[in-house]
Amino acid sequence: MRGLSSTRRDHGPGKLTNWPASGRTLRLVRARLRQEVHYLQAPPGYNSRTGLGPSIADMDLGTYIRASPGDNIIVGGTEPECDVLEWIADPDESNLAVTAESFARQATRAARRLSTLRVPTTPKGVSGVYDVTEDWQPIYDRTSLPGFYVAVGTSGNQFKNAPLVGRLMATLVERVEAGHDHDKNPVKVPGDYTQNVINLGAFFSNARAQLENVGNGDGIVLCARSERAASNESQCT
Ligand SMILES: Cc1cc2nc3c(=O)[nH]c(=O)nc-3n(C[C@H](O)[C@H](O)[C@H](O)COP(=O)(O)OP(=O)(O)OC[C@H]3O[C@@H](n4cnc5c(N)ncnc54)[C@H](O)[C@@H]3O)c2cc1C
Repeated sequence: MRGLSSTRRDHGPGKLTNWPASGRTLRLVRARLRQEVHYLQAPPGYNSRTGLGPSIADMDLGTYIRASPGDNIIVGGTEPECDVLEWIADPDESNLAVTAESFARQATRAARRLSTLRVPTTPKGVSGVYDVTEDWQPIYDRTSLPGFYVAVGTSGNQFKNAPLVGRLMATLVERVEAGHDHDKNPVKVPGDYTQNVINLGAFFSNARAQLENVGNGDGIVLCARSERAASNESQCT
């Protein structure tokens, strides 16, 4: 691919210096949100000898809990209204250390559901930055720069979707490079198991109407506001 340059030549995060010149900005990517997830020793019985314990999403408490190797659990947040969200200007300047305040908040929420959980005084975990879109759903799209495609705005989820995202992007690239006009006739990919059709234009286009599932993208239901009307295609994934 030609026509794109980065400010850094090393392996660190670079900035695309001529992206605006490509004529189409990522209008839906709204902001960078610093977030922490914390590690705790799992309470007795959460994990079994042979396997990891359950994943729990508790939207009432604004927390999620999942098992982690080494008989641990990971605790994260679902951005409940009572939390002050830490929007940051420059992800390269984000504090990578976990904080006592965030650890206490999230560990305490987990302990309300797991009564035998022990909460240590020293926080342990990781911090990272979400690239958040207006509707908390990702952008998987072509751009106006030929040969340049984006899978961005994952809004703190989508790691779990990585294999499918790979298929979506591969299909998009193959079709567009073969001459398909994705803007006029969005690429659609049928699911292997459900055969539900995933419309890349409705759900993942940079030019989409804002999706209805506002909030943390961990929600399963994903409907395009403009295309929810009766249709032969499934509009929800
Ligand atoms: C704290 C936190 C918790 C999360 N929890 C979950 C979760 O529980 N479940 C879930 O599904 N998702 C979760 N996510 C979201 C998930 O991590 C992302 O959706 C996913 O990692 C996005 O994958 P990616 O390959 O697009 O980008 P990344 O994983 O960010 O990979 C991009 C890579 O490119 C490298 N890179 C950047 N710039 C350059 C450059 N100029 N040159 C060379 N290399 C470069 C980076 O170093 C990085 O390795 C979480 C995210 C965070 C921050």
